[in-house]
Amino acid sequence: MKKIIKIFVSLIICILLCIICGVLLMQKSPKIEIKRPNTENKALMTAQRTVEDTAYYYIEIEKLASQTFMDQKVNEYVDSIILNFKEENSLEVKAQYKAVLTNNIDSFKVTDEIYGIRVTSMMKRSNSTEYDTLIKTFNYTKNCENEITLNALFKKGYESIISKELDKEFLLKEKSIMFYDGEITSQISYNSLKEYAKPNIFGASNLEITEEEYDNLFSNVVDPNRKMVAITFDDGPHNVNTYKILDLLEENNARATFFMLGQNVSANPDVVRKVYDNGNEIGIHTWDHPQLTKLSVENITKQIQSTSDVIYNITGYRPKLVRPPYGAINDKVKSTLSDYSLILWNIDSLDWKSRDENKIVPLVMGEVQDGDIILLHDIHSTTVPAAQKIISQLVEQDYQLVTVSELLEAKEYDLTKTQIFYSGRQ
Ligand code: ZN
Repeated sequence: MKKIIKIFVSLIICILLCIICGVLLMQKSPKIEIKRPNTENKALMTAQRTVEDTAYYYIEIEKLASQTFMDQKVNEYVDSIILNFKEENSLEVKAQYKAVLTNNIDSFKVTDEIYGIRVTSMMKRSNSTEYDTLIKTFNYTKNCENEITLNALFKKGYESIISKELDKEFLLKEKSIMFYDGEITSQISYNSLKEYAKPNIFGASNLEITEEEYDNLFSNVVDPNRKMVAITFDDGPHNVNTYKILDLLEENNARATFFMLGQNVSANPDVVRKVYDNGNEIGIHTWDHPQLTKLSVENITKQIQSTSDVIYNITGYRPKLVRPPYGAINDKVKSTLSDYSLILWNIDSLDWKSRDENKIVPLVMGEVQDGDIILLHDIHSTTVPAAQKIISQLVEQDYQLVTVSELLEAKEYDLTKTQIFYSGRQ
C-alpha cells in the first residue's frame, strides 16, 4: 500500500512539473538576442531577430534593441517595410510558394564618432522565385542626433565626383563611401574627395566631429609610390578558413581579393558579406569551377551571370573581375566576357598541391616583387597558417597589401585597353 502511495505522489509531482514547464515555455519570448559576426570591432549594435511564419508569408527580420534616436529611426523604417510587405502579400491564399521577407542590419564604425547603419531587405513575392534586394542606409555621429548629409561633410563641388549617385543611398565606411542605386553599387574613396574637405569641420557643420576624427577619414589609402602586392584567394568562401583569413587581413590593415565560386557563395552568405564589408574585393571564379574553354558561349555566360547575381543579392555589388578556373582562356572566353577584366596571377603558391606552409611560404617570398598577383586558395585549411606568415612578412618588408582593382588603378592600367592581367608589374 505504501508503495502505491509513493508511486501516486511521484506521478502527481511529475504532472505538476510538466505543467509548470509548459507554462514557462509558452511565456518564452520568440525574440532571440543575436550578435552578428561582422559587428565585432564596428559599431556597437544589439539586434533582435524575429520570425513570423504564416500560411501566406515567411518574415525573418532584425530590429535594433536599444532606444537611441537612431535605433528608433531604423526600427520605424523596418516596420514600414513589414507593413508594405504584408499588405502586398497576405491575399495570395492559394500561393504555391510563400512570399518571403528577410532583413539584416549591419553597422559600421567609421571613426570613434561616426557610424553608418545599413538595412538590407530581401523580398520574394508569392508564387515567385525571384528575390528583390532593397537597401536603406543611415549615417550619424555619436554625439548628436543629426543624420549626416554629404553637404555637411564636403565643400561645394564634391557633386562633380559622385555625379548621378548623389540622391541615392550612401553609407559611410572606414575607407570609402558606398552608394546604392537599385542595380548599381559604387564606391568612392575619401582620398578622391580630399580636395573637397572642409577646412573647419567642427565649426562648419552641426555634426560635432572633431578635426582629428575628420582628418582620419582621409588617411589609410593606397600610396602609389610604395611597393604593393595583391593576394588572391580562390575557390571559397569557406565558413572557417575564410573567417580566419579575414582576421589576419584586418590585424595587418591589409586587403585581398577573393575569387569565389557561386555555389560556395550561396552556401555561405554571412562570410561573403563580411569579406565585402571589410573592404576586400570579390571577383567571380564561376559557379562550379568548369574549364570555360570547353563550354558554349551560352554556358560561359550562365556560369558568370549566376555567380554575379548571387554575390549581388548578398552585397549589392556586381564584381568586375573574373578569374577563369585553371587560368584557361581562349578567344571565345575573352569575347564572351568582354565586359570583365580577366585576372590571372604571376606567383603560384601551389598551396593546393603541397598543402605545406614550409613549402608555400618560401616559394612566394622567394619570388615576390612590387606589383605581383599571388594565388592562394582559402578552401584549404593548410593555407591559413601559410597566409599568416606571408601577410606578416610582406608587411614587415613594407609592402602594401591591396585588392587587384586597387593595384591596377595605382599602376595606372587602362582597363578599357587591356583585358587580361597576370600582374601589375610595370
Ligand atoms: Zn580555382
